[in-house]
Amino acid sequence: MLRVASVAPDSIGAELGLLPGTELLSVNGRRLEDFLDWEFLTADDAFVLQARLPSGQELECDIERPEGMPLGVALEPPRIRRCANHCDFCFVDGNPAGLRGSLYIRDDDYRLSFRYGNFATLTNLKPWDEERIVEYRLSPLYVSVHATDPVVRRWLLRNPEAPDIVAQLGRFAERGIRFHTQVVLVPGVNDGAVLERTLADLYRLGAAVLSVSVVPVALTEYSKHTLVQAPTAEQCRAALGAVDRWAARAVAERGYPWCFGADDLYLQANATLPPAAWYGDFEQRENGVGAVRYLQTRITAASGRYEDWTGKRIAIATGTAMAPLMPQVVETLARETGARFEILALPNTLFGESVTTAGLLPGAAFLTALRDRRDLDLALLPAEAVNDDLRFMDDLDAHGLAAQVPVEIRLSYDFADVLANAASAVGQER
Ligand code: SF4
Repeated sequence: MLRVASVAPDSIGAELGLLPGTELLSVNGRRLEDFLDWEFLTADDAFVLQARLPSGQELECDIERPEGMPLGVALEPPRIRRCANHCDFCFVDGNPAGLRGSLYIRDDDYRLSFRYGNFATLTNLKPWDEERIVEYRLSPLYVSVHATDPVVRRWLLRNPEAPDIVAQLGRFAERGIRFHTQVVLVPGVNDGAVLERTLADLYRLGAAVLSVSVVPVALTEYSKHTLVQAPTAEQCRAALGAVDRWAARAVAERGYPWCFGADDLYLQANATLPPAAWYGDFEQRENGVGAVRYLQTRITAASGRYEDWTGKRIAIATGTAMAPLMPQVVETLARETGARFEILALPNTLFGESVTTAGLLPGAAFLTALRDRRDLDLALLPAEAVNDDLRFMDDLDAHGLAAQVPVEIRLSYDFADVLANAASAVGQER
């Protein structure tokens, strides 16, 4: 059921009499299932909408709007598609108790893959899902492949029903859908010859597979360590060898690398990251692929706008994965700003020290690190560590954190964004 969350004042939606709680039933006689139907079917400037008000009254609205004018209707959040798999390395199993409720949801939703770049396995698609991916041209999709050998993939996903991913991607490819793909590297299962086959099969799918990344499996203290282990430095180097071979072939034949190692793979292999230009448009940076080089690019692009930071003492709080890579980023930042930076490499007090990414740090870790730091002028915190309501993993909210530390804090994805939004300081209203 698709329901209205809010209606902007003076909007078309308000003029029609739509209210929060209104059920949106159909457009041009076609039943609305979710936000995708709503967005695609209302893309025209003229259509007929059927809706049911919270009072039970049904409306039929013949809508004609000036070109491009928004309807002013915000929808209630969609019901997330649940995952049909049971991977041994699933992060949900690696969660301790007491986190935000949404962190216990195993989502595997092609709609969010299209919209937000979440990776999906496509193992829970119904025939009508496949049709709408094609009809609405939901492309590119972000797909967790892990292995193209069906037996290995089913083992990794712990899902005997998982379809043959090469055949599935091939069917979509024939109908114009494109993919960014990833392989989460699980040593002893999908590395070595299995990884070679996976990269070869994906390469053979041609232009439909826009990129593939190889990402070392991330485990927490709570993960199933008897069933899955983190790769060693040697195993990471071997995987990087395969990445490099396929990237070299892709550069020679297609003009771009196509196959990428996650920053973490380089880090764990003690290898040097490729230059920024290697990553093109940084299409998988949200997946930790090229994130360091992306940051450096953004910092340099904002060159000349950091005068407020000159002479200041600024802390950059991050996870222990990023911390060893940070000197490269901070060097660029110090050169551009004239500020003095201190990297705070925070261990994850919630998930355990094996969880190293900045985005999974709990609010309590920042609080512990900053509560006595009167010597700092500013602390930059990773914006990916909070959700849309500015809550950290442990439900501490950013304003609550700001009220408890003696230093101004700002949430930042790439440092330059703080400059673009001078009012981004958290708890500034104190
Ligand atoms: S696909 Fe695997 S890792 Fe992802 S949510 Fe499902 S069980 Fe967890």
